[in-house]
Amino acid sequence: MIIDTHVHIHSYPEDEIDEILQRASSVGVGLVIDAGTTLETSSVSVELSSRHDRFFSGVGVHPMDIEDPLSSADCDVLQSMASSNEKVIVMSEIGLDYLESSPDRALQFDAFRRQISIAKELSLPIVFHSREAHEDCFRVLLEEKAYEVPGVMHYFQGTLDDAKRVIDLGFYVSIARPIFRLGHLADVVSQISLDHIVVETDSSPQPFKNNRNNWTEPRHLRPIIEKIAELQGKSVNEVEEKVFANTKKILSKRWDIVEKYISCD
Ligand SMILES: [Zn+2]
Repeated sequence: MIIDTHVHIHSYPEDEIDEILQRASSVGVGLVIDAGTTLETSSVSVELSSRHDRFFSGVGVHPMDIEDPLSSADCDVLQSMASSNEKVIVMSEIGLDYLESSPDRALQFDAFRRQISIAKELSLPIVFHSREAHEDCFRVLLEEKAYEVPGVMHYFQGTLDDAKRVIDLGFYVSIARPIFRLGHLADVVSQISLDHIVVETDSSPQPFKNNRNNWTEPRHLRPIIEKIAELQGKSVNEVEEKVFANTKKILSKRWDIVEKYISCD
């Protein structure tokens, strides 16, 4: 089975979510981990997870959505959502984003640190975002001892050196569709051990693409797994099994819950 470690399909109408999950499952993608980006969307995600067996959630505030300081009350909301819903299995999406249009960096740092601390308190794996912010991102992860929980650098597009630093921290690199268009990323994937790789699609509605069939969905993990197999010189089966085992390891403290839902349908 393939697990999509990072999607935002909570943004779709609910009947479409069912169809997306069915299309995913028809190619072996049996579980998705949805990520909230604000308190509200985290709550929507949690709500959806209660109605769809193979839909799990992350709660978190995305760095692009931090317009105000993340308050203690906000942190309490995140903490209570995560601790009172068994299908919340990661803290996601958190991190740093240094685009020119991104929110104030001081606010981002503070929110990132606070959310890492919630994750540690609840023993929740973190799924983190870093755009043009890798140096600071790695520094915060170290300073906050984020490596005390499992973690995934989501939508990895960095260099071999970046990948090594992620792996040195004990974290995983998450490979998505950029593997088809970024030559340097294909090189990185061919040079790191399969022991540190997981996969995702970061799926969300893409109205800017005219053809609905081209919108990225969890079902697109199948070709990503095949591409990784080609780059690693391994069989598709071996890659699928190893990537599954890696994801299971990340989720080990919540795996009994995952199993309960994936075996009941
Ligand atoms: Zn995302």
